[in-house]
Amino acid sequence: MTAGGPATLLANAFRLRCPHCGLQAMSAGRKWRLTMAGWDQPVACQACGQQVQVQSFSVMAWTAPFIFLCVCAAVALAFRWMSVDWAVALLVLSGLVALAGLLFGIPLGRKGRTDEQLVQRARAAASANGPRA
Ligand SMILES: [Zn+2]
Repeated sequence: MTAGGPATLLANAFRLRCPHCGLQAMSAGRKWRLTMAGWDQPVACQACGQQVQVQSFSVMAWTAPFIFLCVCAAVALAFRWMSVDWAVALLVLSGLVALAGLLFGIPLGRKGRTDEQLVQRARAAASANGPRA
């Protein structure tokens, strides 16, 4: 997977497309690090050089329900409304959903205005390199 080229199927699945130029803005690993610790931090797209970001709102939308469930499970366990097995099963399941959401459910946000000239140049460079698998 090469950043800066046309977005591949995998790049689409991981939501690595640049909102400005539509090409792949960064590697999956880089986006994951931003998702973990770089919310709202503007990063230059590797294809067109314009600023994109992982929006904190999207990250919150996936993690908040999980944290809420953790609190609920802790309370339910404290009052013995739920067995430990059920609480663990519930948390593992919702943890997996939150993880999948963080990996596949967070699009890159646009930071600033799109410069049409930079987009055209990035697209021309990408097609000059030929389609990459
Ligand atoms: Zn771009």
